[in-house]
Amino acid sequence: MTRILIVEDEPDIASVLQDYLHHAGYETEHVADGQTALERMLAAPPDLTLLDVMLPRLDGLQVLKQARAYTLHPIIMLTARIEEIDRLVGLEAGADDYVCKPFSPREVVARVRAVLRRTAIESAEGRGAAGTTERGRALLLDDVHWRASLHGIPLNLTRREFGLLQALARHPGRIFSRARLLELAYDDTADVTERAVDSHIKNLRRKLSVAAPEHDWIRSVYGIGFAFEAPSS
Ligand code: CA
Repeated sequence: MTRILIVEDEPDIASVLQDYLHHAGYETEHVADGQTALERMLAAPPDLTLLDVMLPRLDGLQVLKQARAYTLHPIIMLTARIEEIDRLVGLEAGADDYVCKPFSPREVVARVRAVLRRTAIESAEGRGAAGTTERGRALLLDDVHWRASLHGIPLNLTRREFGLLQALARHPGRIFSRARLLELAYDDTADVTERAVDSHIKNLRRKLSVAAPEHDWIRSVYGIGFAFEAPSS
């Protein structure tokens, strides 16, 4: 069953949302502050989160930013602050949509459906394989913030390392030469040599192996280059 996390400190709003979402066939969980919301999202990412902006302990935008380092499940912001700037901040921080308060619960249910449908289609199309839209995989790459995580563990990559990993992970199993990787991974290759690729790859492997020591993610192909190897399971 599709599970929706409702993060809302006003009990009346939360209970109306729960009623409507249950009625629409969704399972819900409700938390009333930002810190608990973040903990829930990281412990067990829901299929979608409805996230209020004005929250006790940790506000919704902070929750969104911190959550996005670990999980790319769809998040819809609920905001009473209608200023455009707040909307933009929310979306730039990685929200999938937002709904302005006061809202009709029907409208919220419609948005939930639309966002779930959209993200399901994006996943099915495999857009940005192993990337921003592919959910539920061990490796998550957020190319807006150049953040990567493996099994929920942040990899703390440099931009160079992130670029290489993204280029490799888009085509698991394909062998890339160093020259091709340079082209794919970096906009400006002026200050990067093919030899530098080797040292970036070495660091990448080390960081990947800290998060998942049981699998060798990047295979060296002698005399040719490198390939990304997704685990077979
Ligand atoms: Ca609130």
